[in-house]
Amino acid sequence: MKTKGDQQLVKRINRSVLLRLVRAQPGLSRARLAAESGLTKSTVSLLVRELLDDGWLDEAGASVTEGMGRPSTPLHLNVGVRALIGVEINVEIVRVVCVSLQGDVLHSDAQPHEDHRPPAVCAQVARMVAAAHRHLLASGLRLSSIGVGVPGAVHDATGVVRFAPNLGWRDVDLLPPLAHALKREGVPGVALHLQNDADAAVLGEFEFSDGEGEDPLIFVSCDVGVGAGIVLNDRVFIGAQGMAGEIGHSVLQIDGPRCSCGRLGCAEAFISSRVLEQPGGDVRRAARYLGLLLQNLWVTFEPRAIVVGGKSCEAHPEFLRGAIDTVASYAESAGLAPPVIRSPRYGAWTPAVGAAALALHEYLRPLRTNAQARRVRPVAAESLT
Ligand SMILES: [Zn+2]
Repeated sequence: MKTKGDQQLVKRINRSVLLRLVRAQPGLSRARLAAESGLTKSTVSLLVRELLDDGWLDEAGASVTEGMGRPSTPLHLNVGVRALIGVEINVEIVRVVCVSLQGDVLHSDAQPHEDHRPPAVCAQVARMVAAAHRHLLASGLRLSSIGVGVPGAVHDATGVVRFAPNLGWRDVDLLPPLAHALKREGVPGVALHLQNDADAAVLGEFEFSDGEGEDPLIFVSCDVGVGAGIVLNDRVFIGAQGMAGEIGHSVLQIDGPRCSCGRLGCAEAFISSRVLEQPGGDVRRAARYLGLLLQNLWVTFEPRAIVVGGKSCEAHPEFLRGAIDTVASYAESAGLAPPVIRSPRYGAWTPAVGAAALALHEYLRPLRTNAQARRVRPVAAESLT
C-alpha cells in the first residue's frame, strides 16, 4: 500500500491544477475555481488557503459579487513573494536573470566566459547568481529555485551533461560542484535544475506566454551549435535519453561538408554561426538551409508556432527573414498556409528566462518518474514544495 504517497501526489496535482487555472485566468474566485477544476468547494478552499500561506497566491484586491451569491475574492499569482533565477551557460557568455512567477524579468546580467573548464564555470555562475540573489533580497523577494541551461545533451535520469562539444565537455556531472560553489557564495540551497539550453528556451516561451500556451511549440536555437527544444502535449519532449531535438545534426545534404560531429552534410555545417562569420559567409544561402530545416520540422510536428532565436538571428536579421520566405515557398508549392514562425519574446535572454521557468514547469506538472525527480534535488534543502 502506498496510500500516503498517493494522497500527497493527488494533493500536489490538485494544487498545480488550481495554480495553472489562476495563472491562465487571473482574478478567479474560489467558486469559479471549483467549477473550472471539478474539485469540491471545500477542497478548493483548503488548497487555496495553503497556496496563500505558501506565498503562491495572493487575494489582495476588492471583493466582487458574482450573480446572486456572496461576494467573492479574486485570486492572483503572488508576484510579491517568490522569484526564480535562470542561468544560461553559453559557449561565449554566461547570462543570469531573476524572473517573477509571471515571467517579468527583474534583473539581468551577462558576462563573458573566463574559462570553459567546469570548476571555473561553476565559480563564475555562483558569483553571478549570488549577485542576482542579493538583488532579490533587496527587493524583498524569496528565491524559490535556480535553473541552468547548457549547450549540450543532458542525461535525463542523472543530470549529467553527456556531451557539450562546443564547451569541450563530455560526461560532466555539473550539479554537485555547482551546488557547492553556490553554497560557498552564500546562495540558499534551493532546488537546482539542469536542462539543455534549447529545451529551457522553449519552456520560457511556453510557460510565460499569455493564456494556456502554444502546443506543440518548437524553439530553434541558431548559435555556434544548432538545436531545438520541443513542447509536445504539455511537456518538453526529450527523447529516450535526453537527446531529442539535436536538429543541428539532421543531414541536409548527402556527401555535404564535414560537420564537427563527424557526419557529412549536417545542418550545422551550413548554418552554424561559425559558418556565417567566416570571411565570405553567405547569409542568404544559409537562410535557405535554415528554411529547409524549419520546413522539415513543420511537417514532422505540425506545431502551433516555431520560435527561432540565437546569436545568428540577432546578428543577421535577414537570416530568419530569408528562412521564413523559404518555408513560405515550400508551403505555397504544397497549397498550404505557412506555419507561424517568429522571434522569441525575450530575445537573447530566452534560454536564461527559460531556465528560470524549469522549476515552475516541474511544479505545475507534478507527474514525474522517480528517476526524473532525483536529478532536480542535488541539495537537500528548501524546495518549491
Ligand atoms: Zn553533425
